[in-house]
Amino acid sequence: MAADLSYIRNFGICAHIDAGKTTVSERILYYTGKNYKIGEVHEGTATMDFLEEEQQRGITIQSAATTCPWTFDNREYKLNLIDTPGHVDFTIEVERSLRVLDGAVAVFDGKEGVEAQSETVWRQADRYRVPRMCFVNKMDKIGASFEFSFGTIKSRLGANGIPIQFPIGVGHEHKGIIDLITLRAFYFEGDKGETVVEKDVPAELADTVAEWRHLMLEKVAELDDALTEKYLADENSITIPEIKAALRRGTIDRRCYPVLCGAALRNIGVQALLDAVVQYLPAPAEKPEVQGTDPADKNVALSRPHDPAAPFAALVFKVVSDKHGDLTYMRVYSGTLTKGSRLINPGNGKKENCSRIFEMHAQNRIPLDEVTAGNIVAVVGIKDSITGDTLCDAEEPILLERMHFPEPVISMSIEPSTQEDKRRLSEALGVIRREDPSFRFSYNDETGDTIISGMGELHLEIIANKLKRDMKIGVAVGKPKVSYREAISKKVEDVRGLFKKQSGGRGQFGDCVISLEPYTAEQAAAEELDFEDSIAFENGVVGGVIPKEFIPSIEYGVRQTAKTGVKFGYPLINAKITLTYGSYHDVDSSQIAFEQAGRLALLEAAERAGPQLLEPIMKVVVTVPNDYLGNVTGDISSRRGMIIDTEDRDPVKLVTCEVPLAEMFGYTTSLRGMSQGRASSTMEFLEYRPMPRSLQEQVVEAQAGGKKK
Ligand code: GDP
Repeated sequence: MAADLSYIRNFGICAHIDAGKTTVSERILYYTGKNYKIGEVHEGTATMDFLEEEQQRGITIQSAATTCPWTFDNREYKLNLIDTPGHVDFTIEVERSLRVLDGAVAVFDGKEGVEAQSETVWRQADRYRVPRMCFVNKMDKIGASFEFSFGTIKSRLGANGIPIQFPIGVGHEHKGIIDLITLRAFYFEGDKGETVVEKDVPAELADTVAEWRHLMLEKVAELDDALTEKYLADENSITIPEIKAALRRGTIDRRCYPVLCGAALRNIGVQALLDAVVQYLPAPAEKPEVQGTDPADKNVALSRPHDPAAPFAALVFKVVSDKHGDLTYMRVYSGTLTKGSRLINPGNGKKENCSRIFEMHAQNRIPLDEVTAGNIVAVVGIKDSITGDTLCDAEEPILLERMHFPEPVISMSIEPSTQEDKRRLSEALGVIRREDPSFRFSYNDETGDTIISGMGELHLEIIANKLKRDMKIGVAVGKPKVSYREAISKKVEDVRGLFKKQSGGRGQFGDCVISLEPYTAEQAAAEELDFEDSIAFENGVVGGVIPKEFIPSIEYGVRQTAKTGVKFGYPLINAKITLTYGSYHDVDSSQIAFEQAGRLALLEAAERAGPQLLEPIMKVVVTVPNDYLGNVTGDISSRRGMIIDTEDRDPVKLVTCEVPLAEMFGYTTSLRGMSQGRASSTMEFLEYRPMPRSLQEQVVEAQAGGKKK
């Protein structure tokens, strides 16, 4: 049973937009036999891009997992292809897919090599320690160069790429690939390149190929002491199995990245890529055991082995709403789940029923009776679990590490047209939230508006379109607005919150004393304090001056107040509240009274602690041809931006800057205007920073004005 794990590969393709990820994925689905037709991206039929929105934009937003069987060396492997998006506005999607895959293929454009946006995606994969291979795609493009692209893997990513293939011809002459390990040439014949034909290396390429093989051997030898010795004695004494074994170990340990090439659009190289996925990317059991904590005590670390006989533990990484019930995608890390069995979500304590299990293929879903460690499946019957949640054996609970969801930095009001739209809107928002935890919504009691928040302009635009077009709900949307935050600037101590009411019968009495101080995620981690919503709460009360059962009420009151803001109406973040003292009344004290005491204490403390407004700062990377550099940097400065770095990537410059989000609305369009369409940019949330006083006043005034209307 356990041996089965070695025939599974959970992998994804990470690439920025336009490198060819969708085309490569399509070809993979085709060659693995379950996809009857190759869907060209430009026709809008790509199987994995199933949302209309994605097809219109030609980008992949949602991540889907598809099982594709692949035979290598007479063994059938189960490849689970996890789709990862390339757009940086959707780092949340990248984040969750990187979390559940064991390895990845990075796709680059064979003419451009490693581009600015590929770097972002690569660094994200670094963060998750994902073993990778590189596929240099588009070798058929005029001007494509394997040498150049291979070089950029070192120069731009600092990564130890090892060439294991070399293209036969480039541009229009691109015909196939040479396997540098076996020294055989491969051509892909038939209508869709489905017939792989093996031949000798063409004579005219022999010298070049010998040089590249030499480079490959040198790099492989560096991976292993025994091979280094053999290499020094006689490089040709290193055998093919030795090369493959060293490459496999090196790739899994992330000491090297095998580099392949081809042209997905011309059906060249994809089957060889799949063979390499099987040979060099890790099987589930080759990754460290999954880590988590005991739900009953967060300080107790737990782990689970990759073993079907161990207690069950899985991570939900996607929820898709469907007429027939939600499909909950999960990565099973340990144990076995049988159809119809019960599970627990240790995060919220809810029991879940797994009524059906499906293996998702490109064209159909295959019902399973059970699923074991190492696999990825979609389950029906799960009601109260969303992306990022753990599902596990109720008898042996474990809470797997939570996913890191970036803060929503932008929001927009949204107004239903009719009463019927209003009802359907609130339902729809719940559905979208379950599918996409980086999306939030709330109701503004004062104005009666519904506010939706997300990670960028594009994110909200897509959600608005989904509501209007896919769900056919009549809504009017407002202008996107920046989501500000509040913070305090100094520490205050001994601030009392007293809630006391004497009204006829039973009174209310809650009394607490707190200190409030600026605080960071690093400090919270060092002190092992929970930092939910960027607020830490510590109970420093000794000797029962407040009965234990009221402490959670105070924390609740404090946290709720922080959420709605202490001064300007935006959530308070980066603060620690320590409960230091208090008192109670035998009869009049209640949970509600202590919640109120907590609220009053925090409001008072914040007032004294120098409250200020924070604004989201974005990291923006602009790729701009040298001629337009001045326009772009001047414009960035006028947007209160700071230029952090300018890198020469002849003929373009790569400008890295930090700019307040408030100044970035409509940037893509104006960037196009100032560079005749030749500059492009990526943007991701960096951090919240204090706003200049004068601007802070403007925001507060605008907000006050908005409320009056
Ligand atoms: P994604 O945005 O990374 O998913 O990339 P797509 O698969 O949508 O490809 C982007 C564009 O590049 C499309 O117009 C494809 O037809 C084209 N493309 C993909 N692979 C190749 C290739 O091997 N050669 C050439 N010349 N174009 C390709």
